[in-house]
Amino acid sequence: MAASHMALGGAAWVVVTKLGGAAPELSAAGMGMAVLGALLPDIDHPGSAVGRRLWMISRPLSMLIGHRGLTHSLLAVLAGVAALVLVAPSSDLAVFVAPLAVGYLSHLAADALTPSGVPLLWPAKRRFGIALCSTGGPAEMLTVAAWLALAAWLAGPEALGIG
Ligand SMILES: [Zn+2]
Repeated sequence: MAASHMALGGAAWVVVTKLGGAAPELSAAGMGMAVLGALLPDIDHPGSAVGRRLWMISRPLSMLIGHRGLTHSLLAVLAGVAALVLVAPSSDLAVFVAPLAVGYLSHLAADALTPSGVPLLWPAKRRFGIALCSTGGPAEMLTVAAWLALAAWLAGPEALGIG
């Protein structure tokens, strides 16, 4: 679900920022990019949050490849990051590209927790995943809550405005 992906993307970026010593400080732009990255893989689904807005991309994609194909693979991550590294000024990499990639990867990780899994090695057909939660089920809520709690704990009381 889109809301879960957005929450997980933001939480994943907080965790990466706080655990990775070299990662940049949390910024609104970084959080925004992480949330955006977490929504992007479902651009191959015309009914998804991004797919509805960018239907001119999502409809041909879903017709050609189907949902959870190319955009749910490591190939898409690598190609996307490589393209951005080439076109974006290096000062933007840590600020925009890194959170976008983290958010995107968090989406693939989250989808891998569902029974249908993700085709990480697309165009190979093999799907990777552990059937931990079904979409929208209680396990999904628990997973999201656990990540949010971890992110909030790592971010510290100041970030929550209670420090
Ligand atoms: Zn997905």
